Amino acid sequence: MTSITPDQLRAWRRQIHRYPEIGWTEFVTTATIIQTLRSMGLSVKTGPQIVRRESILGRDEQLVARAIDAAKEQGVSQALLDEMDGLTGCMAELDTGVPGPTFGFRFDIDCVAVQESNEQEHLPAKEGFASRCDGLMHACGHDGHSAIGLGVAAWLCKNRAGLRGRFKLIFQPAEEGVRGARPISDSGVLDDVDYLMGMHLGCNLKMGEVALDPKDFLCTTKLDVYFEGKPAHAGADPEKGHNALTGACLAAGQIMAAPRHSGGMSRINVGTLRAGEGRNVIPATAKMEIEVRGQTAEITQYLVDYVERCALGAAQIHQLTTKIEKTGEALDFTNDPEMVDVMQGVVDGLPALTNVSASMGGSEDVSLMVRRVQEHGGKAIFFIVGASQTAGHHHARFDIDEAALTTGLTLFTEGIQAILERP
Ligand SMILES: [Zn+2]
Repeated sequence: MTSITPDQLRAWRRQIHRYPEIGWTEFVTTATIIQTLRSMGLSVKTGPQIVRRESILGRDEQLVARAIDAAKEQGVSQALLDEMDGLTGCMAELDTGVPGPTFGFRFDIDCVAVQESNEQEHLPAKEGFASRCDGLMHACGHDGHSAIGLGVAAWLCKNRAGLRGRFKLIFQPAEEGVRGARPISDSGVLDDVDYLMGMHLGCNLKMGEVALDPKDFLCTTKLDVYFEGKPAHAGADPEKGHNALTGACLAAGQIMAAPRHSGGMSRINVGTLRAGEGRNVIPATAKMEIEVRGQTAEITQYLVDYVERCALGAAQIHQLTTKIEKTGEALDFTNDPEMVDVMQGVVDGLPALTNVSASMGGSEDVSLMVRRVQEHGGKAIFFIVGASQTAGHHHARFDIDEAALTTGLTLFTEGIQAILERP
């Protein structure tokens, strides 16, 4: 039986921290999680059993192929890779055999594209568990989420005899870029869930602070915009070219000039613009990575429409073709007050914790899972666990106070018991 000590949580977190993988490439991470869950005696589904392939957005097949090769080098067995069938993430299930509700839990497992600091003040560097993958880092705390998920699994196994109902622990790939939740929701695995719980570490809260009902998660849509023109010799025949770089720059400037919306908060960002082939060639291709966010779906759609018009207008002026691809999405969402009340009762019984209010301004694709469960009559909560982080999320020196892993685990296990004890 796995003991669920702070040391064990820390060990799991550090193991996952060492080998960060970007969305849709989490083969080593998924294998580690599956093996740990199976060693506890849990049944685990992975790959096409929990991910609807047709619903996948924002997946880079070259990155996936390279990650599978890397996973083989890291010792992941061919049998496990066959089971995953090119897809990452997994779900552990525990059926107590006693009638009761079905619980769902969501833990995200992917990293971000950040080069981790090697300064000695940065604990992962100092203690030797910093990222071994160049340019990749668990700089959002999802390593901690994965560890907490394993902790919940171990607790369920240990306390099985006193529980009722069924438990589904979902380890979700590709949260960054808000890509992974939709294909898991669309697979239907959440449709019988009565109570869904999810959480995020950090979000600038201190140790001991939790935000049970964080506000202002924004809807978001991620878009890749492509332009294609015609190359020509920049000296001999410039008039024969159709300049994709100029078109993309024009579109970028106009996109950033989008009028604000009176209906609520909005955000818009052209994050990358790559164009051109060489100094003396009229640039024939360009690609932009863009995101828009809005307080409501309507504001978000208003910005998506605006981006489309900018792209089409710029393409027309410069005689280009343009293509727009959606690569990720999240919605706004509201916690069920009933779940917030239950968790408030839990926090009231834990003197070290205080429930605080928090305004996020970010986006979370757990929103798609929350909506799916609520549409089927279930209840959901997504809360924040403070971790006195050392730097902002997605920063090279981001680190958490590992004591927050125990806080997160306790909130889940106490929450389960509080729900089961209700009349
Ligand atoms: Zn995150």
